[in-house]
Amino acid sequence: MDEFELIQKFFARALVSSDVLMGIGDDCAVVEPPPGRQLVMSIDTMVEGVHFPVGADAEKVGVRVFSAALSDLAAMGARPLWFTLALTLPRVDEAWLCGFSDGLLSTAARYECSLIGGDTTRGPLCISVQVHGSVAPGQALRRSGARPDDVIYVTGSLGDAAAALAVIENKMTVSTSTYEFLLKRYYQPQPRLQEGEQIVGLASAAIDLSDGLYGDLTRICEASGVGAVLDVGRLPIADSWKGYTTESQRYEWALAGGEDYQLCFTVPRDKTPLLESWIREKKLQATPIGKITHKLGLKLVKDGRPYDIVGRGFNHFG
Ligand code: ADP
Ligand code: MG
Repeated sequence: MDEFELIQKFFARALVSSDVLMGIGDDCAVVEPPPGRQLVMSIDTMVEGVHFPVGADAEKVGVRVFSAALSDLAAMGARPLWFTLALTLPRVDEAWLCGFSDGLLSTAARYECSLIGGDTTRGPLCISVQVHGSVAPGQALRRSGARPDDVIYVTGSLGDAAAALAVIENKMTVSTSTYEFLLKRYYQPQPRLQEGEQIVGLASAAIDLSDGLYGDLTRICEASGVGAVLDVGRLPIADSWKGYTTESQRYEWALAGGEDYQLCFTVPRDKTPLLESWIREKKLQATPIGKITHKLGLKLVKDGRPYDIVGRGFNHFG
């Protein structure tokens, strides 16, 4: 099977929306942007053995790589439109490609995101997904807008991916239901697209949590020229696995375990009543975990006292 046949068989079957004038097959794709919207784009790369375990189920890898890419759009408050795919494969493994493309394309279809092109090469297994989305003019959520006294929120729960990895690597043994919960969290993270769009106009800054809350919130602080106080006692941690860990382990995973793909965002005080009403009415799943300060740096507190952790977020070059 040559490269052309491979693309035809596994990727050209993707859903294509009417705004795609030229999809897979030419030198470039040609698309029609939604009228009156700004385009946002981001690329994410996953390398076997670094971002997913060697020999991981291909379909799960497809779901995960795409969900992670969409998470960046969510963090900007954007709506997905199209994506391109760069695949580096050690060999043509049809079973792997079948599973991978199923996972990838079914996730893309769920978010109405069309595959419009890509590149296929030979080498160690590596997957890059570039996603394109749109936002209302000037409304993209940035990292740089946090101001002192803004309240810091996080969606969903934290530390699930780190706990899942501990289970996958046989470092933690859990019940069947917890095992299923954690594996689903790891391989099928839910990109917070709906929440991202919902907080446009409310949030002063936002980021998606790929490297861990500690490191990612630090990025908001640095971009905004502010600091933050985090109350670790308020970190949302899933009941499902809580009981299998010590307190410090949980906090470490919640703060420094990456790849939860939740959103962390800041909201000016005058806008928190609306946000809190959404939370009460279950229109938004989010938890207030701290506040932005004039004083630079990230301070952790618990029961009003300083708190310290060992790990400080995963950094590929750290
Ligand atoms: P070129 O050599 O002009 O860059 P290619 O031969 O690499 O083009 O690709 C042919 C067509 O197939 C292009 O439209 C490209 O976007 C598409 N394509 C290549 N690889 C992939 C892939 N993995 N997924 C989707 N489309 C792909
Ligand atoms: Mg060409």
